[in-house]
Amino acid sequence: MPIKIALVANPRITLNPESSSSRQACPEAIYLLRRLVEYLGIREDVDLLCIIGELLAPAEEPQPALTALKAILDKASFPVLMAPAHGTAGAELCLEIFGKEMFRDLNGFRVQACDFPPEKELSLDSLQAALDAAASPSPAARKRVVILPTGIRPTTHPGAFSPDVLSAHNIAAIVTARSPAMADEPNLAGIEALDDFSATPYSFALLSLADGDQAPTRQDITLRLPLPLRDLHTHSHFAYCNDDLDLAWESRLMDAVNLSGTAITEHSGHLVFSQKEYWGKLWYSGTLPQSPQHNRKAAYRDFLARAAKQDQRFQPGLEIDIDLTGRIIADKDLLEATRFRIGAVHFLSMPKPAPDTPGAVEEFMRLTERLITSGLIQALAHPFRVFSWDGAGEKPTRVFNRIVKMLKKHNIAAEINFHHNRPDPVFTRKCLDAGVKISLGSDAHSLYELGAFLPHLHFLREIGYDGDWRDILINAEP
Ligand SMILES: [Zn+2]
Ligand SMILES: [Zn+2]
Repeated sequence: MPIKIALVANPRITLNPESSSSRQACPEAIYLLRRLVEYLGIREDVDLLCIIGELLAPAEEPQPALTALKAILDKASFPVLMAPAHGTAGAELCLEIFGKEMFRDLNGFRVQACDFPPEKELSLDSLQAALDAAASPSPAARKRVVILPTGIRPTTHPGAFSPDVLSAHNIAAIVTARSPAMADEPNLAGIEALDDFSATPYSFALLSLADGDQAPTRQDITLRLPLPLRDLHTHSHFAYCNDDLDLAWESRLMDAVNLSGTAITEHSGHLVFSQKEYWGKLWYSGTLPQSPQHNRKAAYRDFLARAAKQDQRFQPGLEIDIDLTGRIIADKDLLEATRFRIGAVHFLSMPKPAPDTPGAVEEFMRLTERLITSGLIQALAHPFRVFSWDGAGEKPTRVFNRIVKMLKKHNIAAEINFHHNRPDPVFTRKCLDAGVKISLGSDAHSLYELGAFLPHLHFLREIGYDGDWRDILINAEP
C-alpha cells in the first residue's frame, strides 16, 4: 500500500520570546508545529510525521521545550518519528521522551533514521555501511526510507543515487536536512533535501511512496500563506473560551504567516451576559435582562481601540449572537465601534438539533435569514455548525439552496471555518457556482490558530476551485 510521510527539518524551537526568528532559533515554531499537526489531522491522508535534525535552538533548555513539543505531538492522530541530529540540543533527552526506536514500520515500508556523520561523503557504500551498523536492521521484505537527520556532504559521483541503484539496495527514498554543502544543488537526484522549518517561509514536505519501483512524489508546502490575507474571525481575552490570545504575539504571527490584517470579532453575547448565563443558554429565550455587572461592552471598545493603536492591522469587529426572538445581541455603541461583523447561530432551542428534529430547521432558517438581512454583517460564520459540531452530525441539506440565494442577494460571504467545524463541500460548491464570496476565518481562540488557513485553501482546491484566490475571497486586499 502507498504511504504518505510529512517531513519537517530543523524546527529549532525556543521558548524564549525575546529571540528573533532566524536560522538559529524559532520562537514561532511551537505555534507553527501545532497548526501543522492540526492541518495534517484534517487532511486525514498522512501516515507518519517525521521531525528531523536540530529540534531545539542551540542553547535551549531541553526539558521545557521538549515537554511543550510532546504536548503538541500527543494531539496527532498519526504516528510520529523523532530523528534528532546527534549532539544537538535536546537530542538525548528527546530519545528518552519519545522513545529510542529510530524506525517506524508502515504498510511494507520501514522509515529508518540513520546516524550518518556529516563530515563523511555520502556514497552508496558509506550509506550501506551506516545502515548495516544501525541497531535495527531492516527486514528484507520492507522497502526502506532512509532518514539522515544531519545535513550531508553528497557524493560528487553523478547518478550515485539513481532510481535503479536505490531500488537494487531496497531503498525507496533518502531524506535529509539540506546542508550548506547542498545549497547549490536544489535537486540532487535520489535525495530529498528538506529546507529549514525554523525560518520563513516555514516549509515542510509531503512525500508519497507507492508500491513497486515508482519514484517518490513530493509536495512542498509552506506555513507562510501564498498571498497576504486577512483573518476575518478571531477572538480575544474577552471570550469565555479564550485559550492564550495575546496581541503582541498575534502581531508577530501576522508577520510570520503573511497576514495583512486580523479582525477581532468577539462574541457579542460574551460582552453582555455572564459566563453562566451565556453557556447555560439563559439568555436565548430573550427574556433575561442584561445586568450592568456583566456588561463589558465599553471595556471591549477600549480594547479594540488600543489594539488598533498598537498595530493598525487589528480591525475592530464583532461576532453577533442572536436570540430565539430574532433579536440581534448588539447595541448602537457596539455597532459604531466595529467595522467587520459576522453573524452566527450558536444555539437553537433544542439541545442537539438535527435536520429531522421538529422545528429545528425552521428556527435555524428564521435566525439565519434575520442575520443575513440585518444589514449588519459581512459574513455568515460557520454555517450549519449548530447541527454538526466537529463535523459529527448531519447538516440540513434541504435549505442549502435557499441560504445560497439569500447570501447572494444580500452580498454576504459564506465563511470557511475549521474551528470545531467542517465546512460542507456541497454547500461551498453551490456558493462558488452562485458567485457568493468566501470568507476565511480561523475562529482563533488560541495563538496557534491565527491565520492557519492551510486547511481552508486545501479544502477549496479539493472541491475543485483552481482559480485565483482574489476572485473568491474577501480576505485578500482589494
Ligand atoms: Zn462562532
Ligand atoms: Zn467565533
